[in-house]
Amino acid sequence: QTDDSRALLIPRYVRVNTARWTTKEAIKTFISRGFVLSGPFDSDKGFSQDEHIPDLLAFPAQMQFVNDPLYREGKIILQDKASCFPAYVLAPPISDDSVVIDATAAPGNKTSHLCALMGNRGKLFAFERDRKRFSTLTAMLSKAHCTNVEAINADFLSITPEDRKFDTVTHILLDPSCSGSGIVNRLDHLLEAGSERSGDIERLNKLAAFQLSMIKHAMKFPSVTRIVYSTCSVHAVENEHVVSRALTSEEAVKGQFQLASPGAVLPLWKRRGLPEEMDHPALASSLIRCSPGEDATNGFFVSVFVRGSHEHGGQL
Ligand code: SAM
Repeated sequence: QTDDSRALLIPRYVRVNTARWTTKEAIKTFISRGFVLSGPFDSDKGFSQDEHIPDLLAFPAQMQFVNDPLYREGKIILQDKASCFPAYVLAPPISDDSVVIDATAAPGNKTSHLCALMGNRGKLFAFERDRKRFSTLTAMLSKAHCTNVEAINADFLSITPEDRKFDTVTHILLDPSCSGSGIVNRLDHLLEAGSERSGDIERLNKLAAFQLSMIKHAMKFPSVTRIVYSTCSVHAVENEHVVSRALTSEEAVKGQFQLASPGAVLPLWKRRGLPEEMDHPALASSLIRCSPGEDATNGFFVSVFVRGSHEHGGQL
């Protein structure tokens, strides 16, 4: 299959920004516009509520929402289903005391998702090192009315974990730069300048080394109990290999980090990590994979690290 034919099998996903209104209200609005809750492929006017991500709606692939007032007002976010998994499985706490980091935030889809899941409460630090992408991030967060976010134009690796500002952070989302090899439906806003789809091994190894350094850095935050690492890559080098290396790192051993058990990470999602690519094949069932063309999503990978006794950090 070509990229384009696979893209046709991907519905137009619309995430309801629950920082602005409820999913129930959004569904009512779409029904009042003549849409029918029947399924995205049933008719031009069919749509459905996603079975894995409750605040996600699926419309026919040809639907366009970029000029829709709901999109322009930040009440809906155009975000692929797989890219909704990381914030959802991070399951940030909903409390005025919550302190969460999105380490690699622009353009801000997952930041605004985290904000919505936190009920716009507590504190969400959003790092972005690229200046231009940082301005896209701040514009997106203001459009989405994310008032609990402090966006910081800095390299996450330069942040001191023991800094008083960050020493109470309990949850970290890491969605770092990757090869983008899983993207099939031209969600080009997810790709940053200079990123490639190529499987060039030298480039992949370089990306993997960077991705590993980000996980190891996240593990140094003194109060962190849950870290989600995700990529929009289909390459094991950036996914299972990075996770295997992170698990045996000094930081993981010292911090007593392990993978969350399969039942604590989207238990209803069937496609899991590749056992043959893991140092410990049994651990692959804790990992989530999305396969372009087979899962009605882009290619994606999600892993959840938990510290010691924090296995049930909130997720299902
Ligand atoms: N999570 C974003 C979303 O869903 O909208 C997409 C993130 S994109 C895959 C990766 C982002 O991380 C890029 O904007 C890149 O500039 C930024 N980045 C890469 N390395 C970084 C670092 N060390 N510190 C902060 N940001 C970084």
